[in-house]
Amino acid sequence: AKGTTRLPRWLKTDIPTGGNVTKIRKTLRDLNLHTVCEEARCPNMGECWGGGKHGTATATIMIMGDTCTRGCRFCSVKTSKSPAALDPKEPENVARALAAWGLDYIVLTSVDRDDLADFGSNHFASTVRNIREMAPQMMIECLTPDFQGRPELIEPVAHSGLDVYAHNIETVEALQRMVRDHRANYKQSMFVLEHVKKTKPTLLTKSSIMLGVGETDEEVMQTMRDLRSAGVDIVTLGQYMRPTKRHMKVSEYVSPEKFKHWEQVGNELGFVYTASGPLVRSSYKAGEFFISEILR
Ligand code: SF4
Ligand code: SF4
Repeated sequence: AKGTTRLPRWLKTDIPTGGNVTKIRKTLRDLNLHTVCEEARCPNMGECWGGGKHGTATATIMIMGDTCTRGCRFCSVKTSKSPAALDPKEPENVARALAAWGLDYIVLTSVDRDDLADFGSNHFASTVRNIREMAPQMMIECLTPDFQGRPELIEPVAHSGLDVYAHNIETVEALQRMVRDHRANYKQSMFVLEHVKKTKPTLLTKSSIMLGVGETDEEVMQTMRDLRSAGVDIVTLGQYMRPTKRHMKVSEYVSPEKFKHWEQVGNELGFVYTASGPLVRSSYKAGEFFISEILR
């Protein structure tokens, strides 16, 4: 499917509506929570929120505002050099709302806040501590910024009480400059993952690679090996989808068979879990996986 702008059939999906999703949407409005699931119009909403066969409902919410200080070429989040100040009440309010929602598994993510002295590290950690207190049963995954690779800013999050520490490598080494903001890079992101494992070896670490941006098979292979060497436990691979015409082009629609291949490679390399498929996103059914594979 090289060079085409037409969507292959395996990527055509409907945005789920009805039943559970509609009910949850209303609860979310009442709680004033903003999910990435809805904002990204994620096709997996029905499965994630519905909980799948293990009944583990998963959602992803974004903290620290809706405006990022970085501008990655694949991302549709708004950007600004000086986003609005953090809401000091957010950690508590988010925790209260999540406790009321009664989810099983939450993925907390955020924009990058290079404008703040600690890049938002303490705000992130405090949100996790508040959730732990108000919803002790909830499993918590954080998908974090790189905190510019500063150990003293990575550690508070690693020690905050979360279950899974995720940070995305996004793409292979050769394409980092083309795909990500200039403040991000391959070595720095690998260091973040490695440092989390060193800081707290019992934490599960996780990373994602987007395919279809121009990478070669050897480069994907190398990236997966490097992630294993950094001690990463979980890897996910999904298709890059261009959010608007202003974003970088899709270079290839990778076939479902190829994604299957990468899943096998992941298993052979010894990842605890590899999720690989055209529609797989970093948080795809994360909770269901956690129950079925980790707590088994
Ligand atoms: Fe988007 Fe994250 Fe890049 Fe910001 S740092 S532009 S939120 S991918
Ligand atoms: Fe939400 Fe992530 Fe599931 Fe999509 S894959 S519905 S963003 S939790």
